[in-house]
Amino acid sequence: MNTYTPPDPVHRGHAHDVDLEDTFDFLNTDDTENGFPVDKLPTLDDALAWFVDRGVIHVEGADRVRAQVSNHDPLMERDLARVHAVRSALREVSLSIAEKRSPDAGALETINRALHARQVIELVPGPDGCYVDHRHVGDPVDDALARLADPLVMELTAGHPERVKVCASDTCQWIFYDGSRTSRRRWCDMATCGNRAKAARHRARERAAVQAGDVGDAASDAASESPAV
Ligand SMILES: [Zn+2]
Repeated sequence: MNTYTPPDPVHRGHAHDVDLEDTFDFLNTDDTENGFPVDKLPTLDDALAWFVDRGVIHVEGADRVRAQVSNHDPLMERDLARVHAVRSALREVSLSIAEKRSPDAGALETINRALHARQVIELVPGPDGCYVDHRHVGDPVDDALARLADPLVMELTAGHPERVKVCASDTCQWIFYDGSRTSRRRWCDMATCGNRAKAARHRARERAAVQAGDVGDAASDAASESPAV
């Protein structure tokens, strides 16, 4: 039986494993509910807590930022504006990938600036090899944003950018990665947006059939509809 357990993160240095799902979760925090915009990260404190939760910032780093901005509103607003700017730039660039068009130049510049602000990575020796470490010299917020931008770069470099998609629901617009076998997923989540769209189609068809005075055919049509992927 294979009982190998990977070394715990503390002894591996600071790998901060972030994947594309974290990136998309981040940009989907700029959300809409029932067609109205809802920001899930309305304050810098919310953003820092989210970064700590996803492992892109250390608790100490978040505390350092909190100490810097406490009683200093302009600094706090500057940091929050930076988080929101990179988030919407990531959304615009992801959208451009999904829609196979050129991205907004400003958005690209914002992401590239974020990538440059990444903290320095170094190799450090370990008892059984080498590990990746980074020096904590930069700004923790800049570094968190760079880490969240990284997976998108990796996807474009060596992944499947054609699987980056935007939810087909007008009221959702979530960005998601289509990991389905056929790569034909249209909704971020079949259980919510997919079902809503299917139910709306069903209702529209029934309404049309009632107007045409032909309910029987509509019912059999709806029943024969194949389940969406
Ligand atoms: Zn959706």
